[in-house]
Amino acid sequence: MVGKVWVQDLKTDEYLRIETSFHPGDKYIPVELYVYHCPPCMYCAKADLFPLPSDLVDQWLDDGKFIQDVFPMLSKDEREILISGTHSECWNKMFGDDE
Ligand SMILES: [Zn+2]
Repeated sequence: MVGKVWVQDLKTDEYLRIETSFHPGDKYIPVELYVYHCPPCMYCAKADLFPLPSDLVDQWLDDGKFIQDVFPMLSKDEREILISGTHSECWNKMFGDDE
């Protein structure tokens, strides 16, 4: 999450996350963000703030779409933080990571 920004591809209207070294140009435009408050992590109790495109948050929370359909650009670990707040490293500390 850190070091990346959300943009929208002007050709496809797709939302993308790219490195902050990017300079806005003809191809992408910055998007309106909603700072989503994740639930507190079961292990470290830290609740992350996760900036997400407002439009996608609406699709996820208001329209009831599946998170993997709305946020295919996020990793499985990142989607887990949105749903349960649990960090993958904390999950590993609780249950071991020898999967
Ligand atoms: Zn944690």
